[in-house]
Amino acid sequence: DRRMSARLPSAAPAIVWFRDDLRLEDNPALNAAAASGRPLLCLYVHDETAGGSRPLGGAARWWLHGSLAALDASLTRTGGGLAILRGAAAEIVPAIVRETAAEAVFWNRRYDAPGRETDARLKATLRDAGVRAESFNGHLLWEPWTVTSRAGAPFRVFAAFWRAVRQLGEPPRPEPAPAALRCHAVPESVRARCVGLGDLALEPSSPDWAGGLREAWGRGEAAGRARLVEFVDAGLEDYAAARDRPGESATSRLSPYLRFGNLSARQVWHAATAQASGKFLEELGWREFSYHLLYHHPDLACRNLQPQFDAMPWRSDGTALRAWQRGLTGYPIVDAGMRELWATGWMHNRVRMIAASFLAKHLLIDWREGEAWFWNTLVDADPANNPASWQWVAGSGTDAAPYFRIFNPVLQGERFDPDGRYVRRWVPELAALPSQTIHQPWADTGRPLGRTYPSPIVDHGKARRRALAAWQAIRVAAAQPPDEL
Ligand code: FAD
Repeated sequence: DRRMSARLPSAAPAIVWFRDDLRLEDNPALNAAAASGRPLLCLYVHDETAGGSRPLGGAARWWLHGSLAALDASLTRTGGGLAILRGAAAEIVPAIVRETAAEAVFWNRRYDAPGRETDARLKATLRDAGVRAESFNGHLLWEPWTVTSRAGAPFRVFAAFWRAVRQLGEPPRPEPAPAALRCHAVPESVRARCVGLGDLALEPSSPDWAGGLREAWGRGEAAGRARLVEFVDAGLEDYAAARDRPGESATSRLSPYLRFGNLSARQVWHAATAQASGKFLEELGWREFSYHLLYHHPDLACRNLQPQFDAMPWRSDGTALRAWQRGLTGYPIVDAGMRELWATGWMHNRVRMIAASFLAKHLLIDWREGEAWFWNTLVDADPANNPASWQWVAGSGTDAAPYFRIFNPVLQGERFDPDGRYVRRWVPELAALPSQTIHQPWADTGRPLGRTYPSPIVDHGKARRRALAAWQAIRVAAAQPPDEL
């Protein structure tokens, strides 16, 4: 291989292997490849088994399709294009290196254990063959191993983690896209291995359930940048005050762009610091903390971080689980959230907390069932944020809402959706109810429940007592008495 690239110095390309970094701006792997002076060969390798990482859910696959299409279009404008291949990256990347006599391979790092292991092995294989292989931080502000306590230990509590990262100073500024991309013509041997984006069948066809997603979102880098500009100009100022109100469009809705790297966290951070919003930066900090947890607890999605939760007497109740998934629990704020999720692939953060709490506490169903549903239905389904947030809500995380603190879905609805705007939008059968009863339609004596909207599938008081008893049974030390929020 080395002899071959020596014979073909000008033609030997540098490969950029795209993964969760589907953008041209602030992409360190792409910049390094461009700086090598070699013509670029841009690859995406789709592995249905995800090489041991978690295979994507349906909504995320839909997002991936749009992101790849946008990236391919941008690369094509520069004279190249994205070569899409199918199979195990650990075999395909070295094969393409051999076929093209590539002299270097560049990628941005990932943080799940199977992904890291694959990348480490690949890097060793390539280097052994005399090929330059370099990886970069394209995804995070602070990589997990760069943030430790004074004693060198990983963090378990967000507040301490956040104090530590704030002492590290500002994250690096984003870099522009390479001024001119010189792309390598995809050689015939590689072209023969490529598949069309459509061949990956990432978008649903029969049935096509993605109509609501298409209405709600523009996918890809340009759409992400436009959303960021719009949010910084119009939304950031009110963010801290309004972010908990699901009826207002007060949050950035940048999560799927960050998930697939249509935008980098550095771009978002520096666009936001220009306007100074501590609360918003702190939310980006929760994303960093979730990756810190995933890195130090690779089985975050399947194992309770607090082992006493392994003994939790979770109920197996398919009927209740389905009612929750379909937004038919009889609690309007929960149902509105679950229907927003189904229709648009996204749910407001406050409502994610209420709906998740309802599953793990009111229904006493294992949080992993809910995590799996979110994984399949969220366009921002994230290997770190999703399980970390579920463990936070369920009380099984390292820095978690205590299990005994049980959200009352009526009070939460009245507090955060006081005029019922959010519920009216997503539960249209309740749209005519006055704000006084919209969060507890059973109290509206004029309208018998059951015909157009279900009666509550569990009684709040009884469900709360059952959850507390279950939690007492696993003897989580209760530092404080149960309270109502
Ligand atoms: P903004 O409020 O505008 O925040 C800006 C960015 O900060 C977000 O885009 C996101 O990247 C990050 N962020 C905000 N809140 C959190 C948080 N609590 N934890 C980690 N990062 C955060 N977020 C995901 O990106 N993917 C998930 O799969 C996911 N699953 C969740 C499951 C549950 C049960 C809960 C309670 C939360 C989950 N979150 C998840 C976190 C949060 O709800 C979303 O990031 C947020 O609602 C996205 O909307 P936004 O972009 O408008 O957020």
